[in-house]
Amino acid sequence: MSEHPLPITPLVQIPESGDPYLQGFKCKSCGAITLKSRMACAKCGGRDTLEPFRLSTKGTLHAYSIIYRAFPGIDVPFVSAIADLEGGGTIKTNLIDVEPDPEKIQLGMDVDVVFQIAPRKDAEGNEYLAYFLKPAA
Ligand SMILES: [Zn+2]
Repeated sequence: MSEHPLPITPLVQIPESGDPYLQGFKCKSCGAITLKSRMACAKCGGRDTLEPFRLSTKGTLHAYSIIYRAFPGIDVPFVSAIADLEGGGTIKTNLIDVEPDPEKIQLGMDVDVVFQIAPRKDAEGNEYLAYFLKPAA
């Protein structure tokens, strides 16, 4: 058994050794990739065909929005983004390490998935590991 606490952020896996990663699911029948396990594949309808799949940490920016209004306690502006990952899978999270300025952000730009302690604590006051996007190094 791992000595790490169970990851509480969906998708994030923390292996005994090596870097954290995102885990999705891949259909062994049609190759479709999904972020959540399901009873059946949404693409081909295959039952019990989804197997755990390690998502890439490389991708391209598919869409983004600069957020200027949020709940109290959340710093704005920030960039909410969607990225298509190499090898399949699409994730949504914040794009960090970039100015929240449309002049500085290009659709299709290369992005990396990075893991950091989330800026806020969970409902029980614990720190947790979250994933973000940043412009590719
Ligand atoms: Zn399928």
